[in-house]
Amino acid sequence: MKKIHDTVIIGAGAAGLTAGLYASRANMDTLLLEKFVPGGQAALTAFVENYPGFPDGVSGFELMDSMRRQAVKFGLEIHTTEVKFISSHDNIFCIGTSACEINTRTIIVCTGVRPRKLNVPGEKELFGKGISTCATCDGSFYRGMEVAVIGGGDSAIEEGLYLTRFASKVHIIHRRDKFRALAPFVEKARTEPKVEFHMDSIVTAVNGDGQMESLNLKNVKTGEESILPVAGVFLYIGLIPNTEMFGEFLDLNDQGFIKVDDILQTSVPGVFAAGDVRETPLRQIITAAADGAVCAYSAGKYLEKIE
Ligand code: NAP
Repeated sequence: MKKIHDTVIIGAGAAGLTAGLYASRANMDTLLLEKFVPGGQAALTAFVENYPGFPDGVSGFELMDSMRRQAVKFGLEIHTTEVKFISSHDNIFCIGTSACEINTRTIIVCTGVRPRKLNVPGEKELFGKGISTCATCDGSFYRGMEVAVIGGGDSAIEEGLYLTRFASKVHIIHRRDKFRALAPFVEKARTEPKVEFHMDSIVTAVNGDGQMESLNLKNVKTGEESILPVAGVFLYIGLIPNTEMFGEFLDLNDQGFIKVDDILQTSVPGVFAAGDVRETPLRQIITAAADGAVCAYSAGKYLEKIE
C-alpha cells in the first residue's frame, strides 16, 4: 500500500522550513516539496536587519541556509519537484508532482510570492539584459554605473541602499509622493548621497538594443516626460501570490492570497497556509516563520482529531 504522510509542506521559504522543523521535531512523518532551491524570496535579500537574534544583521542567504540545516537536522526530508495538482478523497490528499503522486493526511501551503513585472514596452525583450528583480544576484554587475530601482515599498528602499555598494548612483523611481516603506528605511536612504529620488514618476518604456540603455519616465502630476540613461533597472513593485494551482481547491481573496482562519486552516479542513502566500497584514521573515510553526501545530491537532 502507498505510504501516507502525516503532512506535506509545499514550498521551502521561511514558512515552509519552519513548518518542517516543528513538524519533524513533533515526530510527524513530514515531507517538504520545493520546485527550485530552498530559501524562498528571503534568500535573495541582501541583508536582513530585523530578524531577532542577529544584532549585527545577517545575509538573507545565510539565514535561510541555517533554517534549512536546522530542519534537516531534525529529520526533515526535502524533495525537489513541482506540484501540479491536489485532490482529496476520504480525508486523504493526493499531491500530483512532476515526479510522482504523494499521499498525505494534511498539507501546509507555503508557496510564497513572486515579483510583479512592469508590463511596459521593452521589458520582455530586455529582461535579464539589464532588467532584474534581484539586486543580490545582479547588483555587482553594475560597479561604477548608474542604475534605477522602481517601487516605494520596503524592498525598493532596502535593495536600493544595497545597490549603492556597487553603483555610482541609484535612482529610486516611485509613482506617488509618499513611500509605503517603513520610515527608518526611507530616512536612511535620504541620507545616502548616491540615492536620487524621482517621485510621482512612472516608467513608460525600457529602451536598449540587446542591452538596457535608458528608461522613459513620466511625471504623473505634471505630465512631463523624460529619458533617464541607466545601465540596469531593478523592479521592486510588489508581489504576486503563487496560488494558481490552488484556485479550484482553496478559497482565495480577490488578490489571489489564500484565506485562512485563526489556526491558519484554509477553506479545506486539513490544509493550512503559512507565510507570504496567505492573506495577512504583514509579510516579513519573522511572520512567515511564526506561521510555519502555527501550521505544524495546527496540522498535528487536526491529525489527533481524525485518528
Ligand atoms: P510592496 O510593499 O507591495 O510595495 C510595492 C511598491 O511598488 C509600492 O510602493 C507600490 O506603489 C509600487 N508599485 C506597485 N505596482 C506598481 C507598478 N505597476 N508600477 C510602479 N510601482 C508600482 O512590496 P515590497 O516592497 O516588495 O514588500 C512586500 C512585503 O515584504 C511587504 O509586506 C514588506 O513590508 C515586506 N518586506 C519587508 C522587509 C523587511 O522588513 N526587512 C524587506 C522587504 C520587504 P504604491 O505605494 O503607490 O502602491
